[in-house]
Amino acid sequence: MSKPTVPMYDNYIGGRWMRAASGNTSENRNPANSDEVIGNFPDSSADDALAAIAAARSAYDSWRLVPAPKRAEILFKVAQIITERKEQFARDMTREMGKVLDETRGDVQEAIDMTYFLAAEGRRMYGQTTPSELPDKWAMSMRQSMGVCSIITPWNFPMAIPSWKIIPALVCGNTVVFKPSELTPLSALNFVRVLEEAGVPPGVVNMVTGGPIIGELFTTHRDISVVSFTGSTAVGRLVNQNAAPHFKKVHLEMGGKNCIMIMEDANLDLALEGCLWGGFGTSGQRCTAASRVIVHERVHDKFVEQFVARAKALRVGDGLDAGSQVGPSISEKQLAKVMSYVEIGQNENARVACGGHRLTDGNYARGHFHEPTIFADVTPEMRIAKEEIFGPVVSVLKCTSLDDAIEIGNNVDYGLSASLYTQDINRAFRAMREMYTGIFYVNAPTIGAEVHLPFGGTKATGNGHREAGTAALDVFSEWKSIYVDFSGKLQRAQIDNNPVALTP
Ligand code: NAD
Repeated sequence: MSKPTVPMYDNYIGGRWMRAASGNTSENRNPANSDEVIGNFPDSSADDALAAIAAARSAYDSWRLVPAPKRAEILFKVAQIITERKEQFARDMTREMGKVLDETRGDVQEAIDMTYFLAAEGRRMYGQTTPSELPDKWAMSMRQSMGVCSIITPWNFPMAIPSWKIIPALVCGNTVVFKPSELTPLSALNFVRVLEEAGVPPGVVNMVTGGPIIGELFTTHRDISVVSFTGSTAVGRLVNQNAAPHFKKVHLEMGGKNCIMIMEDANLDLALEGCLWGGFGTSGQRCTAASRVIVHERVHDKFVEQFVARAKALRVGDGLDAGSQVGPSISEKQLAKVMSYVEIGQNENARVACGGHRLTDGNYARGHFHEPTIFADVTPEMRIAKEEIFGPVVSVLKCTSLDDAIEIGNNVDYGLSASLYTQDINRAFRAMREMYTGIFYVNAPTIGAEVHLPFGGTKATGNGHREAGTAALDVFSEWKSIYVDFSGKLQRAQIDNNPVALTP
């Protein structure tokens, strides 16, 4: 039987699909079966990145003048087309990044929801009108677009995260150069094709696939005004440093070490469900994954016993198989990182309560699969309690009180998401106030953000910006305050409004 031909995909620059200038390509393989090549994608160089920036720069002059409600009409069409192709896009995504179909459907749905929500801002994008302190003077503020935005994204939400950034950038009147993760170019390309089909004009969105060299140019080039990056804290720090000398606006969403806190009065069954979903959903490869569970000493042993039993029963497998609950790690490199942390945890004298091994038999042989793994007897200073692992590994820590849990919960470099299980409303509100994170849940796991609320984290997770909700508009626009003086004379703010001067 002849081998299936491997599709060849292109960059999208200035409204045209084209190969990398060098002709170089790189293969994208299925993490559940590394024999399956999804496609060959341009392994681009500086020439391609520069062409994309030039196209975006030249399209900006006309796109920024398209009325925002008209820009929005095109974006509504984007959401409609993605809705029609949802199943195909979800299947493509499972093949290229491994998470189970239910979850990739959720990823595509998030792109749909985000697009509808932010496109609607084309008819709002409210500014302020406010009284002037001076007579016969008008005062107001409005958002203005900023120019070319570079969008640099990771692989774990390969359609949702690009939509979180590209849609608000466009509705605000900016143009875009987009570099998706080299591990998930197909989902990015599916999204960009829809933008083209919906009528986004040539040059307004440009996509270049490839590695760090593209990302570096997209963070340093003089024609880039905004850099919106989601990825690891280590790369985010580099992006920030590289962009700083040019005074670009830099929006960073980075790593996490999120916790679920379980009090002795919690509904333990509910908390168990939450820990399974929060810890092992997306194989632990979510920035909001519940990689730490902090349990009150009075219910700790019972919880660990039941958590282990439930984790052992999880079905690991190819995300396209209906029965699979936990897919593979994205790559051999990511799996090696997971395994190295399992070793680190053992060397730190944490106890492997279940899992701990790569899966290699039968159907697992060609993929990057790892057993759902729970570490018990973990203490806060251990590396497995502090560092992001990004795999199906959960550390369980013991606490003596809510205050103790909050202290442990906050005592990490990251600040993305936290959650508390309790029946006590007073404790819930105290934890809500005391946890220094960007997201907090009560009686729900650390994952599950909705598109109309701000999303992002504190400390080493983020640099103060937020995506989603109307907060996304603040990343991709700048405020302009406008004063119109119709008094016909010079009026000096803070001086001519002196009450003494106003006395006849
Ligand atoms: P990564 O940092 O390795 O890569 C992210 C992107 O940056 C990729 O497109 C990559 O090619 C690019 N890049 C690499 N070097 C670069 C450079 N020098 N300059 C510019 N760009 C460069 O991250 P990843 O492995 O793709 O994603 C996993 C990480 O993303 C985890 O740490 C996870 O917590 C984080 N994440 C955070 C959020 C959030 O909202 N906080 C959401 C999803 C993922």
